[in-house]
Amino acid sequence: MQDSVKHGSVVQESLPGVLDHRTFSRVRVDLGRCDICNTKRAVYRSQEAQAGICEGRYARLVKEENAKAGVR
Ligand SMILES: [Zn+2]
Repeated sequence: MQDSVKHGSVVQESLPGVLDHRTFSRVRVDLGRCDICNTKRAVYRSQEAQAGICEGRYARLVKEENAKAGVR
C-alpha cells in the first residue's frame, strides 16, 4: 500500500533545518537568490551545504542554534 511513497518529494526538504550557520560565511559576490526562501538576495554562503541564504535566514539559524544551546 505504500508503493507511491518513494516517488518525488526529495525537492528542498533537506535544505532547511539541517543547515549549520557556522558553515556559512558572508560573501561579497553575487549569490543570486536565497536557497531557502527563494525571494531575498543571498548574502551568506556555505561551501559545505552548497547553498546561499539571505540575511534573515542566517539570523534565524543563529537564533535557533542559540535556543538549542540554551537548553541545559
Ligand atoms: Zn531567504
